[in-house]
Amino acid sequence: MHVLVLGAGQLARMMSLAGAPLNIELTAYDVDSGNIVHPLTQAILGNGLDNAIAQADVITAEFEHIPHHILDVCQRSGKLLPSSEAIKAGGDRRIEKALLDNAGVRNAKYAVITTREDFLAAIDRVGLPLVLKSALGGYDGKGQWRLKDSSNIDAIWLEMAQCIASNDNQAIVAEEFVPFGREVSLVGARGKDGTIAVYPLAENVHTDGVLSLSTAIADPELQAQAQQMFTAVAHNLDYVGVLALEFFDVDGQLLVNEIAPRVHNSGHWTQQGAETCQFENHLRAVCGLPLGSTQLVRETTMINILGEDTLSPALLAMNGCHIHWYGKEKRAGRKMGHINVCGDYSGELQRRLCAVAEELDQHAFPAIHHFAANFKS
Ligand code: AMP
Repeated sequence: MHVLVLGAGQLARMMSLAGAPLNIELTAYDVDSGNIVHPLTQAILGNGLDNAIAQADVITAEFEHIPHHILDVCQRSGKLLPSSEAIKAGGDRRIEKALLDNAGVRNAKYAVITTREDFLAAIDRVGLPLVLKSALGGYDGKGQWRLKDSSNIDAIWLEMAQCIASNDNQAIVAEEFVPFGREVSLVGARGKDGTIAVYPLAENVHTDGVLSLSTAIADPELQAQAQQMFTAVAHNLDYVGVLALEFFDVDGQLLVNEIAPRVHNSGHWTQQGAETCQFENHLRAVCGLPLGSTQLVRETTMINILGEDTLSPALLAMNGCHIHWYGKEKRAGRKMGHINVCGDYSGELQRRLCAVAEELDQHAFPAIHHFAANFKS
């Protein structure tokens, strides 16, 4: 089997690693350079996109911000999974919101803004405080504004108007501010035959809008709610592949924040913590193979490595500690890799996380230090 991945970042890299034991070979399309590359070495493979499409058995995507003309060419080949419709929904908050409403899935009240009049009407209709998000191109908290009270309307409108003017099809989605207790996500796969297999929910900690920690949790009541919403969205899109739903947990009631039509950062823990990791299950789904078990095999937390390219070698000597580098050049705040920390019996994971925190710089890894300080007190 030969799979072409749209996008050549760390998700394509980890899919490639997971596909090798199943004899699934991957090549990647680097959307920025237009080159077909090897997902591990980034070596240019030549031949161009048209040939790569012709040679692939299956085409999939590792991110949702792919130019629509490329998605359309891939869709016409009949090889793209998930469909261009699903990928476009993940890349445009307007389509995403309409999809959630159509699937009957709870999400934050919202309004779409393209003019100042729309902005004022949204404040009236949705109410303050508002979270304002660019419809296209936003991720990890980028392209967002918070309007707490009316004194900031003019200043925020100036910035939003610039954002809207930057692209013919740009708009702002204004959402009610959700007073959530925590954020959780559900990663799961849907096969070509409609079979669904979801992983345990992950509880996620963000720092400045970027995921910093993700821990698999056991909460049967929330799991059932999340699974019901996952099934509704996946069936609605006739989805094939791994899909992630991010939720706000408001006093035990889940609301969808956003969907990601791909393998997801909050599912990286599955590499050590689940019977079959999300990358393998994505490939199994899009290649028409049976899905692997999503069962938890041991408690696991993922720690994102942001903007750092070296870690203490002592971490490699720790039991249950697994480092995954992405082979990227260091840049402030960039996702450079992650660490999966596992525990084999109750309480062991927490103690190991405290030991790992001692080896990590406090400024580069604030969330794990915060966890360790709370755990010890
Ligand atoms: P997003 O890019 O939509 O995932 O937003 C980044 C982060 O902003 C989320 O992980 C939340 O912590 C926060 N956030 C997004 N939307 C809302 C909302 N409607 N209410 C409160 N916080 C939000």
